[in-house]
Amino acid sequence: METQCLICESSAVIDRQAARTIVLAIGALREFMQAWKILQPEREPAQWLLHSLSNAMGAAAHIHPDVQSFIADVERYQFGGFDCLCLRCGARFDTPSGAASGTQPGSQ
Ligand SMILES: [Zn+2]
Repeated sequence: METQCLICESSAVIDRQAARTIVLAIGALREFMQAWKILQPEREPAQWLLHSLSNAMGAAAHIHPDVQSFIADVERYQFGGFDCLCLRCGARFDTPSGAASGTQPGSQ
């Protein structure tokens, strides 16, 4: 189910888990790019690529303390204790419980 912003009704809303996943993906990409810098010319390019991807995913699985701290800062400063963040207007709100879509407060 898609969560919409309670203010601007945009669907560009992420929750804390999505933010955590994005940070981990950036960490894996960074590991991959570092492996890219240290090219190993004796390997077959496809073999090297799979090996580097595997290393990057392994590094992402073990959350480095810096990454954990970064995730904690994102949750504290961007989400401020709320569950969801609208990427369009910056509104923060908790996940609407029950029937989420189409509800508008004060409609008569
Ligand atoms: Zn919004």
